Amino acid sequence: MSKFETLGLDKPLLDAISDLGFETPSEVQEKSIPILLEQETDLVALAQTGTGKTAAFGFPMIQKIQAESRTTQGLILSPTRELCLQITNELKLYSKYVKGLNTVAIYGGASITDQARQIKRGAQIVVATPGRMKDMIGRGMVDISKIDYCVLDEADEMLNMGFYEDIKDILSNTPEEKFTWLFSATMPKEVGSIAKKFMRKPVEITVGTKNAGVSTVQHEYYLVGGRDRYPALKRLADANPGIFSVIFCRTKRDTQRVAEKLIEDGYNAGALHGDLSQNQRDLVMNSFRKKQVQMLVATDVAARGIDVDDITHVINYQLPDEIETYTHRSGRTGRAGKSGISMVIVTRSETRKIKAIEKKIKQDFISKKIPTGIEICEIQLYHLANRIKETEVNTEIDNYLPAINDVLDGLDREELIKKIVSVEFTRFYNYYSKTRDLNSTEGSRDRGERGSKSDAPSNGSVRYFINVGERDGYDWMSLKDFLRETLNLEKEDVFNVDTKDSFSFFNSDAQHTEFILQTFTEFKVNGRFINVEVSKDPGGARKGRNRDRKRGHRKGGDGGYRKGGDTKSFRGGKKGGSGRRGGKKKPGFY
Ligand code: AMP
Repeated sequence: MSKFETLGLDKPLLDAISDLGFETPSEVQEKSIPILLEQETDLVALAQTGTGKTAAFGFPMIQKIQAESRTTQGLILSPTRELCLQITNELKLYSKYVKGLNTVAIYGGASITDQARQIKRGAQIVVATPGRMKDMIGRGMVDISKIDYCVLDEADEMLNMGFYEDIKDILSNTPEEKFTWLFSATMPKEVGSIAKKFMRKPVEITVGTKNAGVSTVQHEYYLVGGRDRYPALKRLADANPGIFSVIFCRTKRDTQRVAEKLIEDGYNAGALHGDLSQNQRDLVMNSFRKKQVQMLVATDVAARGIDVDDITHVINYQLPDEIETYTHRSGRTGRAGKSGISMVIVTRSETRKIKAIEKKIKQDFISKKIPTGIEICEIQLYHLANRIKETEVNTEIDNYLPAINDVLDGLDREELIKKIVSVEFTRFYNYYSKTRDLNSTEGSRDRGERGSKSDAPSNGSVRYFINVGERDGYDWMSLKDFLRETLNLEKEDVFNVDTKDSFSFFNSDAQHTEFILQTFTEFKVNGRFINVEVSKDPGGARKGRNRDRKRGHRKGGDGGYRKGGDTKSFRGGKKGGSGRRGGKKKPGFY
């Protein structure tokens, strides 16, 4: 008899459990499943995400529901769209051998008519976010007047997010005699009062302590040149497409700068540091919790309050001074029994710190290589294929299908796949296929910190004069964008841009000279000739590439491939604004 069988679960669930490879029930499952199967009772369970609580309420609900009836019998309310989808997916897996059982997710930000259509087809279990649920009740699109079971999942989080009134409203549409199962990670007063108001003598269970479970953090370090920290960070993010991370910097200034650059390069990033107002910090934290921000760049002090369980990666952009601080940083991932990775970007001179940390945490670091451009392309390609495979088909497309078929007529399957994948992949490929290896070897000199010019162009740079300036509405950044876009060059290919009133200067590598001069021959914008000449004043060229850096615009390494000729970022959003530029849309979350 399997351990799950002893809990009282039936064959269809046991078969699904065996397919999923669950061997032993988790603590919350062991404690709640027998109670919920044997008794008709309300329940309050104090349990974290990642403890297996979805199955703790999902298994009993699936077993108790009459799959033969199409009536909605179970309602699960969850705070976020992500959790809502996660629960729905889990329940679908658990109920795969229960014939006729349908679980439908309803949440904001997706077509309400689609969701209503799915409910109409018959959904014995509805998993919903409170806002969308209320909306659909108001429009008569869902009937929860006959439910037998209602789960309030992550109740504390729902109350934190201000859903109290919505929950009250929703529950007033449910029968009094239903049973309510409340799951919460913490038990603040507000959750207690919900339990008191809406539940009858609930059985109470508590599992483990906060964030209990096996913490499996893998520690990795990546050896790069000092000036390659930022490009290395970008590659690490690109090589981990599902990343949800905290990136630690040592100073507020670096934190802001790295976040701005990431946003500018099209990533969903945000900054968290002490120079921001409480309101700004709340905003960024809310976006992070909702995973709208995937890369939170933070100082150690500001990150103290972060209590998010699903962080996949902690990235140490710079190592902290204190080893103790590293322990706190890496402890942000691998929570609630999940695995996590703590990555450290180090220069050669810092490798001894790695040894000291290893001693302290009693765990070895793995020395890893920053992925090459081609490796990243490969990762992104498979990620894209998986995304296509996992994408739920939007039925609205049906209306357009005949016309789309006309357009794509004559393409065979293979050709079609190649083209679909190329739509996004080519942008990545164009950018990354040209980039260099960022890895520094243990024995090599540290390029950045020792001032070697090995990533500078081998054939020197040329300074140009251009006959537009501030009077024409350009500042150094907008002129740089204009030049890069016109010349179709990478971000690092145009540098040291200096705008004056009616003219400006910029630098580029000598290899581009002919092309630049040729492009700006007879070149007109709005009827006006734009003229570029090689400058007689080589001053800027001598000053090298540091000038933009002083203005908060770091050079070198991987530039913004997300911008390129196409202003859309790879991730589907528009080019991000860094605040300084204003007016630009934040990149969308994919
Ligand atoms: P949850 O806390 O419900 O979000 O579950 C966290 C993860 O643990 C999910 O991916 C589940 O599929 C998985 N899981 C749940 N119960 C078990 C179990 N008894 N053994 C192994 N994995 C489990």
